[in-house]
Amino acid sequence: MSAVVGRFAPTPSGKMHLGNVLCCLLAWLSARSKGGKVLLRVEDLDPERSGAEFERQIEDDLLWLRLNWDEGGLEAEEGRYCQSRRSDVYQRYFDILAQKGLVYPCFCSRAELHAADAPHLSDGRYFYPGTCRNLSEAEIAEKSKKRKPAWRVRVPEEVIGFTDYHYGPYTENLAQECGDFVIRRADGVFAYQLATAVDDGLMGVTEVVRGRDLIGSTARQIWLQKTLGLPSPEYGHIPLLTDVDGRRLSKRDGELDLERLRERWSAEEIIGMLATAAGILPEYQPVTAEELVPLFSWDKVAREDIRLPEMLRG
Ligand code: GLU
Repeated sequence: MSAVVGRFAPTPSGKMHLGNVLCCLLAWLSARSKGGKVLLRVEDLDPERSGAEFERQIEDDLLWLRLNWDEGGLEAEEGRYCQSRRSDVYQRYFDILAQKGLVYPCFCSRAELHAADAPHLSDGRYFYPGTCRNLSEAEIAEKSKKRKPAWRVRVPEEVIGFTDYHYGPYTENLAQECGDFVIRRADGVFAYQLATAVDDGLMGVTEVVRGRDLIGSTARQIWLQKTLGLPSPEYGHIPLLTDVDGRRLSKRDGELDLERLRERWSAEEIIGMLATAAGILPEYQPVTAEELVPLFSWDKVAREDIRLPEMLRG
């Protein structure tokens, strides 16, 4: 059996919050409990949203939590693990899709895409109805004078399936449930779907553990990998962390960012609280992530959203 490689893939667009910590903890435990490696990829594709200072802070937080990684990070090998520095790689794979006749420019504005007749999918995405799919060369030339296009990939009538470690079998017919999706934005930035599918494939990642909010991206990423001749990892999506009222935590919940929490709690206390809330520890006690390795198994992890431990609020 080939070696297990898990990954952390933070977007350095702000301080790390507890939801990110839970995700890194479970990704780390899933890989380490199989004797696997962990790599750290910096998902700083969007230059407007991301910053190296946030990434430095995230790396410092992960080390403080003793969630270590074996390769990657900001300083590794001249940015080989930073998406902002891998445009040439994404361009190569974009070109492969284009050569297969699968890429076309899309001139739809955000307002048009959000128009009332664009059906919204259950997870908040909208279905792209194919408005620009069959434009003629002349129409493309005309529209290009007014607006820079985004680039979409044509998806087939094909059911893509995978078995999630945690949520079981999942299938999606991309043509019916998603529609052609953007792989490069109008400002030239490659889209998350393309970058992440290519990187997971090229970096030898064998398992992706991430929030359940991303489960709807998985079929697109698997299809891209297949179409590009890249291997696909396995996937384990995890429940989201909500506050005590059941509301999803976000970067706006400033009191739950790690900088504040580090002033009040030790790493062992934070890991212990999250492990208890997630179902890995039957009863709260401060622990290191390392101590949880022999206790970890996917069937212990909660499937419902995980409520923030009361202790942390106080
Ligand atoms: N970079 C994404 C985030 O921070 C995670 C993407 C992924 O795990 O595929 O939310």
